[in-house]
Amino acid sequence: MPDFIYADNPIAIHYAIPAFLFLLLVEIGVAVYDQKDWYETKDTLSSLSMGIGNAIIRLFTKVLTVGVYFWLYQFRLFDLGAAWWVWVLCFFAEDFMYYVFHRTSHSVRYFWASHVVHHSSQKYNLATALRQTWTGTISGAFIFAAVLPLIGFHPIMVAIFGSVSLIYQFWIHTEAIDKMWRPIEWFFNTPSHHRVHHASDVKYLDRNHGGVLIIWDRLFGTFQEEEERPIYGLTTNINTFNPLIIATHEWSAMIRDVWRAPDWRSRFGYLFGPPGWSHDGSRKTSEQLRAELRQQISEKRAQQTALPEVNAVQ
Ligand SMILES: [Zn+2]
Ligand SMILES: [Zn+2]
Repeated sequence: MPDFIYADNPIAIHYAIPAFLFLLLVEIGVAVYDQKDWYETKDTLSSLSMGIGNAIIRLFTKVLTVGVYFWLYQFRLFDLGAAWWVWVLCFFAEDFMYYVFHRTSHSVRYFWASHVVHHSSQKYNLATALRQTWTGTISGAFIFAAVLPLIGFHPIMVAIFGSVSLIYQFWIHTEAIDKMWRPIEWFFNTPSHHRVHHASDVKYLDRNHGGVLIIWDRLFGTFQEEEERPIYGLTTNINTFNPLIIATHEWSAMIRDVWRAPDWRSRFGYLFGPPGWSHDGSRKTSEQLRAELRQQISEKRAQQTALPEVNAVQ
């Protein structure tokens, strides 16, 4: 591996910050000029605070996670080296593991407690992209990509594609770009696909988990096309701009639930069940909400098809 990669990588994401801020200002300018409702001052400030906190934490944790990857690399199954095709393979492998990580972050409350931060804004703009968790690494989110050095991908290569994925995902947090050229929409994660991911509308919930590529969602049945304009945020919004509360609210809610749970099965459910799971059915998961919506739609259809017969009898 060339030396510059060692020197450059662990905090590669920090080098992108000036470009992030420049594009953010451009988008704010367009929003003001075109009188769009994309931004709200307090929301933007809290997104930026989450981003700054995340960047500071990353200074320490990225070195730690790359250290873990190096440690695991000694147990690698294959000596893949660094040929061009290994880079290509690593890109796809890293992006796939990102999909697995991100989908799990939406289906297991323990991981959702960190990831919910990114979904807590009711606005969708380039500042939302920077609204990142403070607790991801400490909760062990890096174990998903840890499989890659075990296979035999060099830890630095893995870290580089991790940064590429994060940097790529910045520009897709915008309402300024409509649907793009069809082959791009088919293959890549785009603003349109990711708007769906940030929506609280039932049919859009837990869809489009891809990082750079959207093909994983198409392959594994979690893809949803953007139809009407999404309503952004959570099914139950947290209504706070306080960064500390944004960073920790789901952790405290989860601990409270585990504490009050009547038995071990419920405790397990509150930790590792899907977000919205409850031992007494008092809350709803995305799947339950989706099932309800399907039921409502089929009842409506049944009523509509029944109507002409009623009229005919009359
Ligand atoms: Zn997400
Ligand atoms: Zn996002």
